Amino acid sequence: STNDSKSTSKKKVVAVVGGGLVGALNACYFAKRGFQVEVFESREDIRQAKIVKGRSINLALSHRGRQALKQVGMEDTIVSKGIPMHSRMIHSLNGTQSPIPYGKKGQYILSVDRANLNKELLSAAETYSTLKLNFAHKLLNWSTETGAMTFLRADGAKEEILADLIVGCDGAFSAIRKQFLRQSRFNFSQTYIPHGYLELTMPPINGEFAMKPNYLHIWPRNTFMMIALPNLDKTFTCTLFMPFDEFENVTTGDQVTEFFQKYFPDAIPLIGADALKRDYFRLPAQAMVSVKCSPYHLSDKCVLMGDAAHAVVPFYGQGMNAGFEDCLVFNEIMDQLNEDFSAVLPEYTRVRVPDDHAIADLAMYNYVEMRSHVNSKWFLFRKYVDNFLHIIMPRTIIPLYTMVTFTRTRYHEAVKRWHWQDKVINQGLLCVAASVVGGSYLLVRYPPNMPNISIEQLWTRLQALKSPF
Ligand code: FAD
Repeated sequence: STNDSKSTSKKKVVAVVGGGLVGALNACYFAKRGFQVEVFESREDIRQAKIVKGRSINLALSHRGRQALKQVGMEDTIVSKGIPMHSRMIHSLNGTQSPIPYGKKGQYILSVDRANLNKELLSAAETYSTLKLNFAHKLLNWSTETGAMTFLRADGAKEEILADLIVGCDGAFSAIRKQFLRQSRFNFSQTYIPHGYLELTMPPINGEFAMKPNYLHIWPRNTFMMIALPNLDKTFTCTLFMPFDEFENVTTGDQVTEFFQKYFPDAIPLIGADALKRDYFRLPAQAMVSVKCSPYHLSDKCVLMGDAAHAVVPFYGQGMNAGFEDCLVFNEIMDQLNEDFSAVLPEYTRVRVPDDHAIADLAMYNYVEMRSHVNSKWFLFRKYVDNFLHIIMPRTIIPLYTMVTFTRTRYHEAVKRWHWQDKVINQGLLCVAASVVGGSYLLVRYPPNMPNISIEQLWTRLQALKSPF
């Protein structure tokens, strides 16, 4: 193809490597613009496969992801198959459940099935006449000089393919990214956290959800925790996050029972005592990695998006949402710069790197926070104050979680604003503290009626605020 005029640029070939969540969505974006799109996915077509090996079974979809789906007309289809989660439901050790809303009334996140989401996006992609899906095509290598990609097909044959633009959406262990590592001034870091995760299924009871469905259930237990998200078939998928060291200590069915009796007793009858013993060992605990790099592009030939550019630990529920927003941001820049790849790619890096790095840091921060600050009374108190201030000054103080989950405020700006709010609130509290010293004399002298809430209830609620989900 040639690139001498804008009209011929419409016929350029875009190769999307990876047909996962971000690749399938991205393919729709490029096809919608009229490009000739070829998607190469190493797996077989998951719409035909019986067993889909994936990462998590379900995911939380929030505002950024929805906005990205909307742009290609997919929001309603996906949302109609999602289950709204308006609140977290905190399970304390004694079985008490306390709901903590995610935001204001009407703000919720959605539990969506990963496999179904991927299938829907692939089917949507296939409706474009200029788009072709190539399954069982595993990228082995590509040349930065010629742009030629080498694929291994299911029949063992190798295939060479050329494209005008290569879009690397091949996940956290991206094969496309390997060539970036050989470039001068390419920054890269990869960090495994000491925690692993394991998934368990909680079946329906008498054809109904075993727990309240419109919640993201959380069992926070300091160094480890369990969460559960609802599925359309009325099951819940429970995910246990725990240091690998601890996983290694639980090796027999009896030890599983003992462990759950100690930390998650209310979940045993719901998962089923026998199923628990069996399913716990079905798969080994999975690792979690955080990957950061920059730039995201290589000349005007190649660009990375989704986990290939930024794998984040799952403690903010933003990995896929950020990847979907990548597609949306790229699309916005394509509009601004008339689809001129030599201008669009560097601009995409310039705009997107600070935001994706910010969400990677936030996710990691939450992972650390959950363990180290969990018992800090000051930390819990501050969370409470922030939420309270948001209620009385909704435009001035916006909790970080709200900015990240329910707005498209750029991630790095959300972080900046959060630091600013932090400073202001801390200074405000200092003033308040000064007056409290004076006021406390009066309080002791004339005690008011206490609110109708037990100390225990108050504690569970405070406990819940440390949870990022
Ligand atoms: P992937 O989903 O990894 O897809 C990559 C695709 O590329 C795959 O289909 C793969 O087969 C293919 N591929 C790989 N190598 C090659 C190759 N060499 N040639 C051709 N094809 C190749 N995010 C959220 O937003 N909300 C959540 O609640 C959430 N929960 C999570 C929970 C857990 C436990 C984990 C681990 C992650 C979670 N995430 C969540 C993050 C989310 O899963 C990822 O961000 C998302 O899957 C990224 O999509 P992707 O398409 O970039 O990568």
